Amino acid sequence: MSPRPLLPSVDRLLRLPRMEDAASRFGHTAAAAALREELARAREIWRKNGAGESSLMSSDQLAQAALSRLEEEFRLSQRPVFNLTGVVLHTNLGRALLAEAAIEAIICAMRRPTNLEFELETGGRGKRDDHVRGLLCRITGAEDATAVNNNAAAVMLALNTLANGREAIISRGELIEIGGSFRMPDIMERSGCRLREVGTTNRTHLKDYAAAIGPETGLILRVHTSNYVVQGFTKSVPGAELAKLARDQHIPLVNDLGSGTLADLRAYGLSHEPTVTEAVNEGADLVTFSGDKLLGGPQAGLIVGRKDLIAQLNRNPIKRALRLDKLRLAALEATLKLYLDPDSLPRRLPALRLMLRRPEELRPLAITVRDSLAALLGDTWQVEIVDCKSETGSGALPLATLPSLGVAARPRAKRTGGVLEALTKELRRLPVPVIGRIEAGALILDLRCLEEQDAFLAQLPLIRAENLAAPERA
Ligand SMILES: *Cc1c(COP(=O)(O)O)cnc(C)c1O
Repeated sequence: MSPRPLLPSVDRLLRLPRMEDAASRFGHTAAAAALREELARAREIWRKNGAGESSLMSSDQLAQAALSRLEEEFRLSQRPVFNLTGVVLHTNLGRALLAEAAIEAIICAMRRPTNLEFELETGGRGKRDDHVRGLLCRITGAEDATAVNNNAAAVMLALNTLANGREAIISRGELIEIGGSFRMPDIMERSGCRLREVGTTNRTHLKDYAAAIGPETGLILRVHTSNYVVQGFTKSVPGAELAKLARDQHIPLVNDLGSGTLADLRAYGLSHEPTVTEAVNEGADLVTFSGDKLLGGPQAGLIVGRKDLIAQLNRNPIKRALRLDKLRLAALEATLKLYLDPDSLPRRLPALRLMLRRPEELRPLAITVRDSLAALLGDTWQVEIVDCKSETGSGALPLATLPSLGVAARPRAKRTGGVLEALTKELRRLPVPVIGRIEAGALILDLRCLEEQDAFLAQLPLIRAENLAAPERA
């Protein structure tokens, strides 16, 4: 039998000042468990490397290792990152950043009871959607409105309410798939309706829709092809014509706008994205759109349109399963209020503010970032300012890129042996991970969404440049 290594006891280690601190931060149980893990690891190393005091860690080292383990364990899994991808509304990075007003509203609703479903006037029971209904109607011109968990839920609720067990007519050119496994045909099926495809991938005519209408028809669905464009020999039916057909046949027309926007982006010098008001004016009976895309609010699915249809949606028991919580309703209401003053929107709404940043504005920042990074990486790297193109993201304005400025880092060696990936990895392991993109042999940091310059620069020295020396200068 091999002799046991001489290691301090958990109790003794817990009396070290560092561990006393750790126990008060993370709790006695967790601190003791971390020490036990580290002692087991030390024993394991000792067993593998053979006896000898030199292979044993000191008490101090054990405590330090346990502390690191605790910090790692207690660090939140979801944490802030720097989005330098150039995609403003990045679904994987959480889409729209909220306006200060929305953040304040959420914090307030978290700390206190609210009149979420309580009528202050009468003392009776209220409806949670009422906090946003009036605003949505006022901003979009629609008769009525309701809100659910996200736009996918909005589409499901509309389909299930109006076409359960019946047919939903849709153009083959609009059978979209968007990120996160939202495939329109699957959603339609799961909503209980039968898909009635009309037209072809590139061309669908009004007569195709007309021919498909019959006693089984529950609704006509129009879907904004948010993340792609069909170009060339194409034909789709204008919304107003489709609305007229639907109205004549007494069939509801649902328009899934996807992103949709509440303000005409052309007023801010951006490309046109269909607004919810336009869709309502064209005559769609219901319009569905996301809260956290161009609207710039929290995750939500908004449905506006005909009063009788909204009432029908609200009576569907599924609505209860899809409803919004008080926090997001608070944020949504505060965000919608910003739209009452379109002039201050670029200042107050982060999504719009970021989209409107011009390359000239970014230049001083680009120079600072380039110089810091160049100094850190040394002369095996070429670091320069580059023109680049940002995107709106989240399937809005798929073809309209935004001219932006970035910093590109490129290993000078021809055979880089993975140093580029190593650099992206170093950036991802910073306290606030930095997410860029690799393009044509260089790491590009698009500066459009970098607003906290000081915090960003302050952590750059933590990059371990010694891991990034290119292997050779072949
Ligand atoms: C984004 C999008 C959806 C899904 O919206 P979520 O809010 O992500 O659930 C549905 N339809 C279209 C056309 C979209 O662009």
